[in-house]
Amino acid sequence: MTNQEIWQAVLGEMEISISRANFITWFKHTFISTIEDSKIIISVPNIFTKSWLENKYNKAIISALENVIKAKISEILYKVEPLRRDSAAVPIIEDVAIVNEWPADEKLKEKASKLNQFGLNTTYVFENFVVGKNNQLAHAACRAVAANPGTTYNPLFIYGGVGLGKTHLLHAIGNELSRQTKKILYVTCEKFTNDYVQAIRTGRAKEFKDFYRNIDVLMVDDIQFMGGKDGTQEEFFHTFNDLHQSNRQIIVSSDRQPKAIPSLEARLQSRFEWGMIVDITPPDTETRAAILETKCREKNYNLDEKIIAYIAETVQSNIRELEGALNRVVAYHQFNHIDPTLETTKDILAGIINNYQSKSISPKIIIEIVSHFYDVAIADVLGKSRKKELVIPRQVAMFLMREEIKTSFPTIGNEFGGRDHTTAIHACNKIGGEVKTNQRKKQEIESIKQLLYSL
Ligand code: ADP
Ligand code: MG
Repeated sequence: MTNQEIWQAVLGEMEISISRANFITWFKHTFISTIEDSKIIISVPNIFTKSWLENKYNKAIISALENVIKAKISEILYKVEPLRRDSAAVPIIEDVAIVNEWPADEKLKEKASKLNQFGLNTTYVFENFVVGKNNQLAHAACRAVAANPGTTYNPLFIYGGVGLGKTHLLHAIGNELSRQTKKILYVTCEKFTNDYVQAIRTGRAKEFKDFYRNIDVLMVDDIQFMGGKDGTQEEFFHTFNDLHQSNRQIIVSSDRQPKAIPSLEARLQSRFEWGMIVDITPPDTETRAAILETKCREKNYNLDEKIIAYIAETVQSNIRELEGALNRVVAYHQFNHIDPTLETTKDILAGIINNYQSKSISPKIIIEIVSHFYDVAIADVLGKSRKKELVIPRQVAMFLMREEIKTSFPTIGNEFGGRDHTTAIHACNKIGGEVKTNQRKKQEIESIKQLLYSL
């Protein structure tokens, strides 16, 4: 096996144990620099990644490496080293594509207009979207919108958990409509927000408005992140009205229903309810098997029915993880040049089955994940120490209990060894405020949420 093949197999393993966003953030542009005896040097693009891998993923990387090379590893060193053309890096494909960008400056503007109908993730199409009971309605609504944009279902609001196919469907609509001469725009909520803030800062609000109001089909992915961003909501509200009045299509996705999005203005909520609201739920075993079959066909890889059935039964959380498990099985057998059997597949998936036991989110799980994230002991988070490195995780856990599962303040207090409810209120206000004003804090909370929802 070459270093590149080894790293590919390790990445296959990491990919399924962490969220997609974390995977891309921390493993992009990493590669094995050298392997000497039981010492391995891994190159990383920057110091931030270095410290993150050292502190958060070192153990997991060692165990994945040991699995792949079937030998003990005494030490891993992470070295900051830029990617070169000849680096043994493994390309990581990011799944967010942008059809058409709000141009940051004149040069980009020119480029963006050329990109108009391209740049969508062309692998996300209706043809390879497997329809099951869980997504039937969402799929039908998206097909209808792609056939007749701006008429029946406007806006179309799609919601459902992580990795269940929302982004895939938005791109599928985009790909379908890009064959016509429609002006299509796919943006993540984050991008819409950042562009808006940027436009205001640089005195180009008018251009921003003109740009967005000139679009035929606007798709905003993960709109739940607009919660609490008042200025952006205001702008989006006017964009929405403008587009809607002239029968242009709006499609949004979210991880929850409009009324469950925290701090989303009532008038936006009610706009979203004007059109069609459809949900996607987790797929059943048959649908999961059908998805695996489709992915195997796409990859030109033959897997026995029994093996497919086994993976489908074992990996129940979401489709992204299902794909990750499949990739891992395929990578292992390809690199070792052996034919897959049920036994080898079971071995490969054995270590991760626990990760997939679908747990519903509870205060206990939030405390566990937050402690894990900050690398502190659960007992210390629950304890009385006022040390900063413990107070922060404690307050973040309280905040997430409130925001994500609507735990009452007195119950939050109880979860933390009978603290007073005012302590919980204070923590939620404090972290809530920080998330609004501090980009890094916000990202931190997002990463924890990703962990939580990728369980
Ligand atoms: P979400 O946006 O809901 O988090 P994605 O659209 O990113 O989820 O889907 C995660 C992965 O699962 C993607 O690779 C996507 O192609 C795949 N996927 C999701 N649903 C289906 C489906 N019904 N058929 C085939 N692939 C699917
Ligand atoms: Mg998505």
